[in-house]
Amino acid sequence: MAAGARLVVLGKQGAGKGTQCLSLSHHYVVTHVSTGDMLREAVKQGTPLGRKAKELMDRGELLGDDLIMEMVSTRLAESDTKDRGFILDGCPRTVDQARMLTDWLAPFDLDLVIDIEVPTSQVLRRLASRRVCVDCGANYSLTARPMIGWTCDVCGGEVVQREDDTEEAISRRLEIYELQTAPLIDWYQARGQLAQVSGTGSPEAVTKRIVRAIEDTRNRKGGRFS
Ligand code: ADP
Repeated sequence: MAAGARLVVLGKQGAGKGTQCLSLSHHYVVTHVSTGDMLREAVKQGTPLGRKAKELMDRGELLGDDLIMEMVSTRLAESDTKDRGFILDGCPRTVDQARMLTDWLAPFDLDLVIDIEVPTSQVLRRLASRRVCVDCGANYSLTARPMIGWTCDVCGGEVVQREDDTEEAISRRLEIYELQTAPLIDWYQARGQLAQVSGTGSPEAVTKRIVRAIEDTRNRKGGRFS
């Protein structure tokens, strides 16, 4: 079994974060923690958090930093992520969240932050075609459909277009990404924690590039993460 790791994956909407995090979580046997999936589950269950989140998510707006960090830190305190690490997807999304995460993790730190780079013209094409399973969140597209109708190959759930994959919400999410999330790239670069990887090409090719970046970093650190 590969040794665990504490990783963050950054990238625009449609850069392939969800798909790559799933592959990496199998490769490194660490839990994929996706704030978007956690919030969608809260919406589905109708919890107080879900009721608060729904309207903001449908409009493509961000939830408050404190609320998100409370949800994330509670999850990261569980034994699986505490013992073997995590692959964090969707958080941090602002520099304040990154600071809060760093403080929360101390005396440990993230092992690596991977930024998956895809040109905006390409993510717009991907998002228009994206379909997801309502139950397990597996990703499909108009060109990579499930085997039988719109029934998920993984769990049998219904495969639909996400409610926030409307043209309006997508353009708002990309705008917020440029304003609030893109500055994290320089922030993590300055801390020497960033690896940038091209997200174009097949999902398998992208996974290989990411694993190579992680292993290069691990080797530079003498074969061990913190
Ligand atoms: P995407 O990356 O495609 O925008 P996600 O599935 O990661 O989608 O997140 C969906 C929505 O959940 C976001 O548009 C936002 O409303 C909310 N959200 C997720 N993560 C965060 C976060 N770290 N901070 C604030 N809001 C968040």
